[in-house]
Amino acid sequence: MLPESMSPLLTSLAAIKVEFNCLFGIADLPRDWFETGRLDMSIGHGRCAALVPGKGARVYFFSSERLDKSYKLSDAPRYTDNAKEARAYIARNGDVKWGPRTLAEVWEKTHTFRLVPLEEGIFKMWTWGRIVCAGDSIHKATPNLAAGGNAAVESAAALANQIKLLADASKHGRPTEDQVRRGLVAYQETRQARAAEVIRLSDALIRVQCRSGLLEGLFVQYGLAHLADFMQDMAGDMIVGAVQLDYLPLPVRSLRVTEPFNPRQGSGFKESKFKRAFLALPFLALAAATLSALDLTVVFPWVEATVKKGVVQVGDVSVPILKTFYHVKGVDELYVEDGTTPGPVGEANGLCQVLRHQHLLLPRYLRY
Ligand SMILES: Cc1cc2nc3c(=O)[nH]c(=O)nc-3n(C[C@H](O)[C@H](O)[C@H](O)COP(=O)(O)OP(=O)(O)OC[C@H]3O[C@@H](n4cnc5c(N)ncnc54)[C@H](O)[C@@H]3O)c2cc1C
Repeated sequence: MLPESMSPLLTSLAAIKVEFNCLFGIADLPRDWFETGRLDMSIGHGRCAALVPGKGARVYFFSSERLDKSYKLSDAPRYTDNAKEARAYIARNGDVKWGPRTLAEVWEKTHTFRLVPLEEGIFKMWTWGRIVCAGDSIHKATPNLAAGGNAAVESAAALANQIKLLADASKHGRPTEDQVRRGLVAYQETRQARAAEVIRLSDALIRVQCRSGLLEGLFVQYGLAHLADFMQDMAGDMIVGAVQLDYLPLPVRSLRVTEPFNPRQGSGFKESKFKRAFLALPFLALAAATLSALDLTVVFPWVEATVKKGVVQVGDVSVPILKTFYHVKGVDELYVEDGTTPGPVGEANGLCQVLRHQHLLLPRYLRY
């Protein structure tokens, strides 16, 4: 029998749901089956799949399908006979495609895999007395935003901050049970909003990528291809305001990027983007004035050559410069020197490639 003070734990357990599963695996593929540096995301009806290139011939993939209903944690499928269940998954979903390649073809070259139910949700109770949890044990996201591991590390960092505070406050003896309890509650309070936001965004993303409802379907059909930065913006928002280890200096490289660390921005802070855009307007005007007054090719001699070549080279990865970005006639032409008219959306199935921030994996959305 659980003590009365642990009843929120039972409420929390009920809040975890399972509506999707996920087959993830590692395969070695022929080099002409994928492009280094490009993440291919397949968007289907009730299912989705991502193909992520690694080193050399190695790729990592995951594929999800919507289950027949929303399960409570206690009733969710367990996939105990995993190899058999994974083969059955492929029999149902082997036709999922990344460009010309199917999941069934990739499966033939897969050497490591696992089929899991995708738990989604966040617990109300993270700590009881001197007991404390972190990571997936209390906040469980779908893999679609690739944020669950980040959230686990952030929770570990927030917990480390509280333990350091407790240690500093009790230099001449052990902290009392009450001090420990309050420190652990404070840890949860500092993490709650951001962790909940990661869960919310990841859950929303899998529903978009599986076109789960009318709104998600309309968004994929008519919105996604025009919002080339959609996923990068979500990922940037998720990362920018991460937890800092208070007792260590910030790594300099966190501040020398195009989206530097800022603990007051990003997921969970509900900052108005319109207000930020409005406040940034003077900088935009300044940039426009500078661009019209300066010859950029003198300041950055590589710009002209890069534009002529039509390709940006980042290490091994070469990224074509997009001539059509917003797919809005007139707007795209503003940025295209030769006045090329924006073409159809992607390769017949919605292609969005962007080079932005420090992300080297470029997403390509493929509807099928
Ligand atoms: C397909 C997929 C792709 C993902 N991709 C990404 C990504 O790209 N980026 C990202 O940030 N996150 C990603 N995630 C999420 C990420 O993997 C998890 O959020 C992260 O691993 C959680 O870390 P954790 O330490 O909390 O839990 P876990 O990694 O689950 O570690 C818990 C450990 O405890 C062990 N354990 C359990 N019970 C016991 C017991 N009773 N006794 C002893 N040991 C026990 C387990 O065996 C396990 O090793 C992905 C998840 C999935 C399923």
